[in-house]
Amino acid sequence: MMQTLADIGEDALIRRLVAGLKLDASVIAGPGDDCAVVLPPKQSERLLLKTDTVVEGVHFTTSTTPRLIGRKAMARVISDFAAMAATPHHALITLIAPPRTPVKRVLGIYGGLRAMAEEYGVNIVGGETSRGDQLIITVSMTGTAPAKDWVARNHAKAGDCLFVTGQLGGSIKRKHLHFHPRVQEAQWLVKHARITAMMDLSDGLGKDLPRLAASCGVGFHIKPEDLPLTRGCSIQQAVGDGEDYELLFAVSAKYSIGLLSDWSQAFPKLKLTRIGKLVADPQTRGIPSGGWEHFR
Ligand SMILES: [Mg+2]
Repeated sequence: MMQTLADIGEDALIRRLVAGLKLDASVIAGPGDDCAVVLPPKQSERLLLKTDTVVEGVHFTTSTTPRLIGRKAMARVISDFAAMAATPHHALITLIAPPRTPVKRVLGIYGGLRAMAEEYGVNIVGGETSRGDQLIITVSMTGTAPAKDWVARNHAKAGDCLFVTGQLGGSIKRKHLHFHPRVQEAQWLVKHARITAMMDLSDGLGKDLPRLAASCGVGFHIKPEDLPLTRGCSIQQAVGDGEDYELLFAVSAKYSIGLLSDWSQAFPKLKLTRIGKLVADPQTRGIPSGGWEHFR
């Protein structure tokens, strides 16, 4: 018989989940005490906070490889730190699972959470487990950014140029479980260009770009033929599919000159594409001659 959570109980489960966790010197007390205790950010830094949940049947299915579920749950949150050019540091994980869940499945999910955390230097400092009707994983995280160098979503102006990293569309085939949060790339960008607004593309360009433009109080103009399409994908898919987890950002026109060539030297394997620009009229949302309605 396959061992379930009901068979081994909470204490034994937690012991197995946290065994051998790698923690850096910023963690004074990790899992096992009532609270985690960590060092605060430096005076020259800001503290950033984020939480995110993945739910069985919504973000993954019963047949998704457990390790990839954990990987995705952790990577989604790290991607939000990338979106602000921040560095993620400490994570708390809440797991809700039906008692009949195989122990092996939960260990697999934690394997994915831990591998992604380690890859990005994130310390898993604690968490919570509870029984529930369906599998739910919540990752809450802290991070830091230099006080002068984090990037908000709302400081771009009309005339700023719009860029995206990577390729868009068709994520459901593979990428939504395998993407790499663009932390290093975002931090390079704030050092090498005047980034005026940035976000990660989680819901698709067609939803996320209007959000960025709206928070800046401007409109946008995109050239559909310039969109970097994933091989085999249409423009509609690039705009509407979502879960690309690429960076969308605006750069003042002056700083956008030379950015593409500097980028290709720094990141030769990752595409950067200028897709359009922000315009003064907030009602201008899309491509005047374009044929699809996503932006309306
Ligand atoms: Mg985001």
